[in-house]
Amino acid sequence: MTTKIDNGVTFDVIIVGAGFGGLYMLHRLRGMGLTARVYEMGDNVGGTWYWNRYPGARCDAESLAYSFSFDPDLEQEWQWSERYATQPEILRYAEHVAKRYDLLRDIRFERKVSEAHYDENAARWQVRTEAGDSAGARFLVMATGCLSVPMVPDIPGLDDFAGACYQASMWPHEGVDFSGQHVGVIGTGSSAIQAIPVMAEQAAHLTVFQRTPNFSVPAHNAPLDPNWVAAFKQHYREHRRLEKLGLESGFGGLEIEPQEQAPLAESAEALSDAQLHALLEERWQKGGAFFLSAVGDFLINERTNERIAEFVRGKIRSIVADPETAEALCPTSHPIGTKRICVDTDYYATYNRDNVTLVNLRKEPIERITPTGIALQGRQVDFDTLVLATGFDAMTGALLNIDIRGSNGQALSEKWAAGPRTYLGLMMAGFPNLFTITGPGSPSVLSNMLVSIEQHVDFICDLLVHMQSAGREVVQTSLQAEDGWVAHVNEVADATLFPRGGSWYLGANVPGKPRVFMPYAAGVGAYRQICDGVAADGYRGFELN
Ligand code: NAP
Repeated sequence: MTTKIDNGVTFDVIIVGAGFGGLYMLHRLRGMGLTARVYEMGDNVGGTWYWNRYPGARCDAESLAYSFSFDPDLEQEWQWSERYATQPEILRYAEHVAKRYDLLRDIRFERKVSEAHYDENAARWQVRTEAGDSAGARFLVMATGCLSVPMVPDIPGLDDFAGACYQASMWPHEGVDFSGQHVGVIGTGSSAIQAIPVMAEQAAHLTVFQRTPNFSVPAHNAPLDPNWVAAFKQHYREHRRLEKLGLESGFGGLEIEPQEQAPLAESAEALSDAQLHALLEERWQKGGAFFLSAVGDFLINERTNERIAEFVRGKIRSIVADPETAEALCPTSHPIGTKRICVDTDYYATYNRDNVTLVNLRKEPIERITPTGIALQGRQVDFDTLVLATGFDAMTGALLNIDIRGSNGQALSEKWAAGPRTYLGLMMAGFPNLFTITGPGSPSVLSNMLVSIEQHVDFICDLLVHMQSAGREVVQTSLQAEDGWVAHVNEVADATLFPRGGSWYLGANVPGKPRVFMPYAAGVGAYRQICDGVAADGYRGFELN
């Protein structure tokens, strides 16, 4: 422990987490003259980009969009080197932001928050860390991230494995040398799809254990041309404006000239197969998750969705040489886009390598993990090293891992027993002065996280300024406002194919987790408009005392 333990100190605000959300929150609070303390579990800033150091880790949003917009000087001076930034580069960016705005002095690292209890009489949150800190604050901001609690799979024998075992999201800082090794990887989500091609280049042999195939589109990543970037940066403010309104996509659609991006066709209904193919091919060649928005109704029209899915399956069949492997890699159990689409570099082509084998767990389920590998029904696959790319207890995991208690000692775990309930993804009824950044019920994981983080932080700060000028100390949301918002979030999701995805968006990857579609699916533009309207109406749905 490098810093002194907090004992009985108080702040205006305590922030949990020093990822992008926590950093920007701290910066804004400083500007408002408020005192703040950040507690962070890791020994550095960066959040998800601090932990996820697996080979090939990079962002699936374009670096020029996946970056802070709050300071025009920052966006002009920082130079991204690739279209999609690598994890080390994004981590360097987070470190740069922390230093540039002198944030480090208010952050305590290696501090896992264990409890946060609200003292109603004092109108104060009392926070403790596992390291022994005890501190109070009028406001508590949970900037704990949406994908920060790794899922360890419940596979019998996992502890029996005698070789090295690595979790993608808890990767050793010194890296792992796979040279000459036989490696087994469980999982084929975004993390694995990025890691597999890189690990395959190094390992003697890589065996991929796949339960559910995922749709993946090519990133077409490349170094950024400095002249292109200089031209783009002349229009940076306008790009940011459009991005905030959800009118420009940072998921692969950036051009020098800012432009409102519309689908190439509103629906596929009137298009022949050849016409649809041509539109999809255009976006496929462009690269990135932007591919999905080629046709406007892909998330509401089952027929359109299936035709797009079949286009991607066609791509898989054309890339992967072995027909049985190609078929096993073709997703058929969920509509395309209802699970987070993956963005890759050479993922499908990797299965043409002699040193890569796919095990289709739908045909050959895992019986158990043994000291030397994995026992399938009827055969054993041995390897030296096991990689788990098995995902996260998303969106609620990090909040429920902390003993959070609001008014009358109510535990958040009790309140959310049947699934998360929030107003705007920002507050929970019964938990005064507690805010969540990109919480369930907000666009969060369906959006460019940096856009959503800035919007949430700005909303919270504006609310605090409003409270200050109105002489109010406590803000809370009502059950009525919360119920209305939860109903609206569900209504929006139910109008789409999302609920059929069986994804972590729904909590479906965590045994026993209630199935509730957690993010708000109407987009950042619609969401921002609602939030702006709420503020303009004197913070409708929030009670100020
Ligand atoms: P994920 O999408 O949840 O994938 C987890 C994988 O592990 C799935 O293939 C799952 O199979 C498999 N799995 C879990 N338990 C298993 C078991 N017991 N037996 C066999 N297979 C098992 O997790 P992720 O890949 O870490 O990605 C999570 C999210 O993080 C992404 O959707 C994305 O939002 C974000 N992410 C983003 C980037 C990026 O920006 N490029 C990169 C990585 C991650 P089933 O599907 O059958 O459950």
